[in-house]
Order: sequence, then C-alpha cells, then structure tokens
Amino acid sequence: MLRFPFSAVLGQDELRLALILNAIHPAVGGVLVRGEKGTAKSTMVRALAAVLPEVEVADDCRFSCDPAAPDPHCPDGPHAADGGVRPARLVELPVGASEDRLTGALDLERALGRGEAAFQPGLLAAAHRGVLYVDEVNLLPDHLVDVLLDAAAMGEAHVERDGVSVRHAARFLLVGTMNPEEGELRPQLLDRFGLTVDVAASREPKQRAEVVRRRLAFEADPNAFCAHWAATDDEVGARIAAARAALGAVVLPDAELERIARICAAFEVDGMRADLVTARAAIALAAWRGRTEVTAEEVRDAARLALPHRRRRNPFDAPGLDEQQLDDASADPEGEDPDGDGPDGGDDGPGGGDSGPSGNGNKGDSGNDPHPSHSDSPSDGDSGPTEAGPEAPSAPPPTQQQGAQQQGKGSGEKSARSPNCASRA
Ligand SMILES: [Zn+2]
Repeated sequence: MLRFPFSAVLGQDELRLALILNAIHPAVGGVLVRGEKGTAKSTMVRALAAVLPEVEVADDCRFSCDPAAPDPHCPDGPHAADGGVRPARLVELPVGASEDRLTGALDLERALGRGEAAFQPGLLAAAHRGVLYVDEVNLLPDHLVDVLLDAAAMGEAHVERDGVSVRHAARFLLVGTMNPEEGELRPQLLDRFGLTVDVAASREPKQRAEVVRRRLAFEADPNAFCAHWAATDDEVGARIAAARAALGAVVLPDAELERIARICAAFEVDGMRADLVTARAAIALAAWRGRTEVTAEEVRDAARLALPHRRRRNPFDAPGLDEQQLDDASADPEGEDPDGDGPDGGDDGPGGGDSGPSGNGNKGDSGNDPHPSHSDSPSDGDSGPTEAGPEAPSAPPPTQQQGAQQQGKGSGEKSARSPNCASRA
C-alpha cells in the first residue's frame, strides 16, 4: 500500500524538522506531537520511514542486528559478518496491544512441539534501529508505558517470564501523537520525549485548499502522486544521510552552550535534560543546514522544540515559547561580542538554497506562531499550486485550557537511539 509522501504534507514544518533532527541524531530523544484530529500528524509520522536511509541487517537475525556491530546478547546470534539491506522500518504500537505483543513472548507451539524454549520477538525487537510510533500515546495503559520507557531509556529489552529470560537491543526513535483534548500525558512520560510539536490545521484558505487538492490527487492516482514526489523525498533522505555523516564534526562553541544554559534557566526547566536535548538538537540542526558550527540561530530553533513541554507554566500560558522571553534569554550578555552569526552565514544546508522539501522552515518561526512556510514544495514545482499564499497562515489560537504542568524529573539520560527502520507494511 502506498503511503502519502513525506514531502507532500503541506505546512507542519516544525513537525517535519523535529522528525528529521531525530533521524539525524537519535539521541535527541524522540518527538511528541500534540494536536487535534485531522492535522496530518499521523500522516507525516507514517511517511517518515520512507525518507530514512536503509539499514544493513544480519541475514539470519530477527532482531535486526547490524552485521558490523551485532548485539552481543542477541538471541539469534552469533551472526555471520555479512548481511543485506532493507528499508527503514516504522513499527506502530496499537493502543490495545498486550504486553506480550510489545515485549515478545515464549512461542508455545514451538516449545511444545519441539521441546525447546523459543522466544517470539515483539514490537520492541521489530522497532530496533527504527521508529516506534505510538498513536494516542496518552491513552496507553500505564504498565505498557513503563515497559516502553524502560526499553527506551536502556536501549534494550529484557523479558523474564514463562521460564524464559531474554535480553536484546531495542534502540528506536520514539514518536508519540496525542490529542490533548482526550487527556494529558503523565509528566514523567512527557519529559521522556526529546522534542514536542504542537500542530494545528492552517487557518489560511489557500493552504487549506492545497491540502485538500493534494489529498484528492493522491486518492485519485496514488502511483502517479507518489512518483511525482519521489525525487523530493529522495532528496530529503540523501540530506539526512549527509547530515548524519557530518554530525560528528559539528562544533558547539562555549558561547552557544552558555546561551543554551541561559535560555533553559530563564524558562525554569527542571533538571538538566532540557539543556542536553537542546544542545543535541542544535548540533543536529547545524548538520542539517550544512554548518560545521552551531550558531545562535540553531540554539533558538532547537529551544523552540525542546522546551515547551519542560518549562514551568501558568494555566493561561499559550502553547509554545514566549518569543520575547526567548529573545531576552538568548541575547548575548552585555559587553561581549555577539557571535550570533555563523561563520558561513549562509544558512540552509547543502543543496543550497532550497526549494528543498523540508527546507527547514524555521527561520524565525515561533512556537506560538508556527508559520507553515511553503518551502516544502517539490523542486519542480509543477504539480501544483504548491506555492500557496504569500502569507503564512495564521497561528492557531492559543489554547488556554492546558493546566500548569509540573514537569517531571529531568535527570536521567536517555540512551542513544538509532534511527532507521522500515515500514512494516
Ligand atoms: Zn542478532
């Protein structure tokens, strides 16, 4: 079944960027997407796998071992040194899933038939080196949430039951979506997500019309629609791969690290996780933009994604970050030279300029004023009226019902995750 292409989702540039940053640097810690129904949040998440680079896996492994660095605990190991490649995988955890389904369980048929203990891998194994997607994560039962968080924190799953004891690697990019009208997330769980994005449907008629136009075109002829967007999606994938390769060389200067600390302190986040996540996201963003050094711009853009769910807030605060407060906290201390601009002042990553799909539409966008820019038009711009309106659609009205949330403990470090994965089709 063909999926709606990643690059064809109009607007939602913050969400697109948040997913890409995690694909580049899994240690950012995943994305929580909040928004009403019908905002294409699931569409975009499900489309993500298609732009992720393929993964190399050992031939005989049900646990997706990398042949170059196999999991020493792998129940299927040891493996031969060669393997094959497969597309990146996106695994969905249904809200009604059982714990066995998530963690895996003893395969009774095989155990009884052959008298051997056989472990049937669960979704945690399937998601290793891929994306684990939990739609309506706020409705997931607590015991599953705990299992999920343990695995996410440790990068491995440990199953002990029915006389079977199994340990295997489970590093995945965790993406959750939720509609806040259906209930909030426990603060402990909220804090586990590296980034959050609030999505809302555009209020701009031209953009709404274009969203519908694309959806109708997809439904009328999915093959042609996907073929049309394939090159743009490929371009995103190549840019992600390039950014991954460049990530290790990106420098976070002291001045920018201190800027991160000032911003996190100003927004009164708990613990240190916000600082770490912001730093990692800023580094990934610099790599995405083709920079070798993090600048003030990456720090601010990363903070907009990393802090909204971690700041102390009042009941009547709008979602997102207050731009004035961010400006104030981000400003260079008096008497020091601003180093705001990167050496290469250029912006926008490789491939120059870009009509590029995700064209990281985050120039000056703000948490409470997400302008879905139209930078995600296909490079050839034909199919359509992509270039919707000249003006960004207006922001969603700030909602006022979100109560003051006490943020969870910020300490624990999240383990590194690895990206990659393939659709479970
Ligand atoms: Zn293995």
